[in-house]
Amino acid sequence: MARERLYLFDTTLRDGAQTNGVDFTLNDKLAIARMLDELGIDYIEGGYPGANPTDTQLFAEPRGLKASFTAFGMARRPGRSTSNDPGLAALLEAKADAICFVAKSWDYHVRVALETSAEENLASIRDSVRAAVRNGREVLLDCEHFFDGYKADSSFALACAKTAYDEGARWVVLCDTNGGALPHEVEKIVADVVAVIPGSHVGIHAHNDTEQAVANSLAAVRAGARQIQGTLNGLGERCGNANLVSIIPTLKLKREFADCFDTGVSDAQLRTLAHASRTLDEMLNRAPNRHAPYVGESAFATKAGIHASAIMKDPATYEHVPPDTVGNRRKLLVSDQAGKSNVLAELDRIGLKVDKDDPRIARLLDVLKEREAVGYAYEAADASFELLARRILGKVPNYFAVEKFDVSVEQRDNAVGQRVTVSLAVVKVKVDGDTLISAAEGNGPVNALDLALRKDLGKYQSYIKGLELTDYRVRILNSGTEAITRVLIESQDETGERWTTIGVSPNIIDASFQALMDSIVYKLVRSDAPA
Ligand SMILES: [Zn+2]
Repeated sequence: MARERLYLFDTTLRDGAQTNGVDFTLNDKLAIARMLDELGIDYIEGGYPGANPTDTQLFAEPRGLKASFTAFGMARRPGRSTSNDPGLAALLEAKADAICFVAKSWDYHVRVALETSAEENLASIRDSVRAAVRNGREVLLDCEHFFDGYKADSSFALACAKTAYDEGARWVVLCDTNGGALPHEVEKIVADVVAVIPGSHVGIHAHNDTEQAVANSLAAVRAGARQIQGTLNGLGERCGNANLVSIIPTLKLKREFADCFDTGVSDAQLRTLAHASRTLDEMLNRAPNRHAPYVGESAFATKAGIHASAIMKDPATYEHVPPDTVGNRRKLLVSDQAGKSNVLAELDRIGLKVDKDDPRIARLLDVLKEREAVGYAYEAADASFELLARRILGKVPNYFAVEKFDVSVEQRDNAVGQRVTVSLAVVKVKVDGDTLISAAEGNGPVNALDLALRKDLGKYQSYIKGLELTDYRVRILNSGTEAITRVLIESQDETGERWTTIGVSPNIIDASFQALMDSIVYKLVRSDAPA
């Protein structure tokens, strides 16, 4: 069977930008576009030129992308001519390789929202596509609410799609705008459409309101659609758009699709997928979803000892695809449920060579069990586990010692009479025989302590200057009569490496201090800092 080409269309910069709390700058948009281009995406939708200054400027900039950079906008307004529609004019003026028009395809929306006739809606589609084709652009038509429209009046919905195709639109994109369609409906309706318009010209744009945007996209491909629209990490308003980060590896690694289709994403590009997904989260200042399929930190994490020992023998026993194909890695969790095999596997992964009968392994297991019993959770704190293991194996230098610290919290009126709460931390550190004292103010006691601790570490200062805390989580555990606080801190360095450390104590400052110290020491170990 001849292989067919599937086209990937990313709308992170347009539909994804509708997400609550997301506000891309021009530089963000350019950086994301370059990242999508490097990933091998065929079409990158940049936004609405003419609708806001950022997008107008984006479409005026030289971009140098291999992908078709696509401008999005409305088909001409009812009752206007194409030459007398400023929105359409801005689209035609934009430096875009392709133009994607959005138009109604649900008769109810045409009547109620657009307040026009079916004929005028079809004329608007025809005129808009014609104008853009004459301008030498590749044209796409997003048929808004196509699936609901098809259920209400299939001949009208089809007529909207067919009008665009007949007028020379390269793609007619069937949109499940409110995200309510189900996979079997999508498969059936797309099959009806490709009987009229060749599937090589049909696209799918799914939203995730029933958590089936990925399934709906794949259902459309099974029925004959050959373009898939989606966003990185499923970004998008409400529950998001179809997640390309899940769709791409499915198309490339699952035989039903991999045997029949080519995409623009090579195997080497697929290995950068986890990185791309995390980079976007970083730009959005969000903690990555650990449980994200394929790319999440826990996507290939195994806890139970029996599974871990099987994975050591042959990973295919418990993994649906090899983690490195998407740039992820296998992770064997260390926990009190786990046996020696998890610990040995984890030591092996972090490069600590120990004989399996070494008595220090039994000691490490004992310490792990003791600590997990009082509230430590090493499976969530890989860096603290590594430090603990290295300490028991005698491999962590005493870089510096904190002789004492003092944290105070003061509430008072500031100079303009507002009530403010200020925290101050003073830390006394001994490095190489020298005593260093640093003080810092912070917006809270932990922040102040962190700033003071990292202010002056003498000869180690250069190693930690790129270190930053990216996430701080506190959980109160109730064990017996007293509450115990567990703190997890996620850190990141200048290379983008992330790690998590843990602290447990009845006192939140003390728990935070342990986690902060582990983070700094871990960074020094990773940087091969001299003792
Ligand atoms: Zn959408």
